[in-house]
Amino acid sequence: MKIGFIGLGNMGGPMAANLAKAGHEVIGFDMAPVEIEGVTMAASGAEAAQGAEVVVTMLPNGAILRAVANEIIPAMDKGAAFVDCSTVDVESARTVADQAVNTGLLAVDAPVSGGISGAAGGTLTFMAGGSDAAFAKADPLFDIMGQKAVHCGESGAGQAAKICNNMILGITMVGTCEAIALADKLGLDRQKMFDVVSTSSGYSWTMNAYCPAPGVGPQSPADNDYKPGFAAELMLKDLRLSQKAAEAADADTPMGQRATELYTQFVENEDGLGMDFSAMLPRFEKRGRE
Ligand code: NAD
Repeated sequence: MKIGFIGLGNMGGPMAANLAKAGHEVIGFDMAPVEIEGVTMAASGAEAAQGAEVVVTMLPNGAILRAVANEIIPAMDKGAAFVDCSTVDVESARTVADQAVNTGLLAVDAPVSGGISGAAGGTLTFMAGGSDAAFAKADPLFDIMGQKAVHCGESGAGQAAKICNNMILGITMVGTCEAIALADKLGLDRQKMFDVVSTSSGYSWTMNAYCPAPGVGPQSPADNDYKPGFAAELMLKDLRLSQKAAEAADADTPMGQRATELYTQFVENEDGLGMDFSAMLPRFEKRGRE
């Protein structure tokens, strides 16, 4: 299959390489000069999209997605699929999907979970929104780039699932970190804390699989000086998307709101910029009750 791939950064680069490795003809475009194994580079997004059966985008945010969509949708063949894997606001996802469908294309919003290692290893989880026909067209590509794809509903449903998941992730990371810092101050050994919580009702992905305490639990960014991993600023981006969506939908999300405030403070005024999102733990260690 001929595939256009636009946005070949940390995530898009290895995803495109996996499609090429599986035997597809991949034509790529990125604003930055990049080289991806097996991918032929085009001079523009429109050129990468021309004649492609599927165009995948993996871009930083909704504004950039909208701009790229304006350029490539007119260049795409009728019946081709526009598959956006970026994490963006639900409104941008729906606007772009409507624009694509109105010009005779199939459209899927399919943000991912699994990070850079999942992109490289082809083990991402895709959460997809769009029609059955659009999902069916994209699904074989999800199989190559990932290990699981869930068709969540109509356009925007993938982004809705992604921001709800990541709102839980942000909240549980804050909760896990503040509990470890409290345990420290109560004189509890961290390994004992992990042994109890990881097998008790306080267990979570953030404690069990991504423990924010160095030397405890499986290897995680905490064991690598909190180098990301999943950067605190990306966590903040997703939490802000969740709060924007909550506002639009009139949903009460006090924990999501508090986690957003904490990550804003951490990234903008404290030590969070450039750190993994689990570096919330040293943040709490340094502070007393405010
Ligand atoms: P990145 O910054 O490494 O890659 C984005 C790429 O898009 C860059 O190479 C940039 O040059 C390119 N780009 C920007 N504007 C462009 C344009 N107009 N035309 C063509 N290319 C353009 O970011 P990333 O880590 O690959 O993340 C991409 C998306 O995936 C984001 O929406 C992010 O939230 C999401 N995501 C990231 C992770 C992660 O762990 N990094 C995990 C899940 C989801």
